Amino acid sequence: MSASFTRRDWLKAGVALTAGAAFNGITSQQVTAATAEFRRSRLSREAQIAADMPVIKARLFANENPWGPSEKAKNAIIAAMNDSYMYPFMAQRQFTQIIAKEEGVTPEHVLVGAGSSEMLLAAAMYYSKKGGDIISADPSYDYLMEKAAEYGANWVRVPLTKDYAHDLDAMEKRLSSNTRLMYVCNPNNPTGTIVQPEKLKSFCEAVSAKVPVFVDEAYIDYLDDPKKHSMIDCVRKGQNVIVARTFSKVHGFAGLRIGYIIAKPEVIKALDGLYTQGMDMSSLSIQGALASYQDKEFPKQVVQKTVQSREFLYKTLKNEGYEYVPSYTNFVIFPVKMDAKKFSEEMMKRGVGVRNWQFNNKQWCRVSIGTMEQMQIFAQAFKEIS
Ligand code: PLP
Repeated sequence: MSASFTRRDWLKAGVALTAGAAFNGITSQQVTAATAEFRRSRLSREAQIAADMPVIKARLFANENPWGPSEKAKNAIIAAMNDSYMYPFMAQRQFTQIIAKEEGVTPEHVLVGAGSSEMLLAAAMYYSKKGGDIISADPSYDYLMEKAAEYGANWVRVPLTKDYAHDLDAMEKRLSSNTRLMYVCNPNNPTGTIVQPEKLKSFCEAVSAKVPVFVDEAYIDYLDDPKKHSMIDCVRKGQNVIVARTFSKVHGFAGLRIGYIIAKPEVIKALDGLYTQGMDMSSLSIQGALASYQDKEFPKQVVQKTVQSREFLYKTLKNEGYEYVPSYTNFVIFPVKMDAKKFSEEMMKRGVGVRNWQFNNKQWCRVSIGTMEQMQIFAQAFKEIS
């Protein structure tokens, strides 16, 4: 069988022979041989792709939780399997009610979704509808602002303080009649810094009287007292504050996709109209999240292990003569002594995935906190290139 017997010919021949007809004088043996060759060529392409993909020994680029999901969450997912033919309406409603009760708000204050990204996206769409400014710190978690800018908003970036935290005073000063939304990521990604709760609360109170404040609390569960640091209290007081939470971090659900926001009922209604209203949520993920949400022990264990690995990382960096920004999260950013992109490429060659940044005229690496084993792999590769 010649190489000129293309995939298209093979398909045509297959159809013809299946219908019992001769095809261009090609016999069924020839089709069988062509099928085998096609399979071989596909296999080798797949093998090629696999060979080209770097082998990742330590996946430290996405701030995931390598210890999750919990056994309780996994068991709940397995137990929910039989009911997974049903649309998730009821599970979603139950989940919404449980979150509302736990957070001391009504279910009308809660919107659940497949990860917080879809709420960030809904907010980006809603608040950029009429153009105007969206203010954020720089660098911060850019998703909402990038999307809003695509939809026509103007992204006002306010540099961080010299300690790499949000400069709330400078951000407030940028408010104008043109501002549509203020975005605060606390703790901040990629710097891992926090703003003190009293300071952020008075900021939210003052700013939300003029424009909505979106507080992204993706990493709040890594703090000693998340409730003290959360701005959900502002929502309870009736302020125009939108708080986003995700199960992707401490709960280890990044692949299971669960998140929610808490905001004034009219904001929830407006944003609810802009996405799939839960139709993209998996009932299995919801049941897993419910089990994880009610488990008060698991997050503590994750935080404990995170702190242990983070301490090991700090020590590794110090021993090699590197500084770092002390982190309140499951990632650490530190300045590197070479081009940051080159640094992450060199790490990837050694099987370690990290992220690179450039800001404040410095080159930075952000490394997520993994298991001790992963951090040791990081340390080995880091020592080779540092
Ligand atoms: N917000 C912040 C600050 C993040 O760092 C991330 C993901 O890394 C997200 C939101 C997205 O979270 P989710 O997985 O819930 O969509």
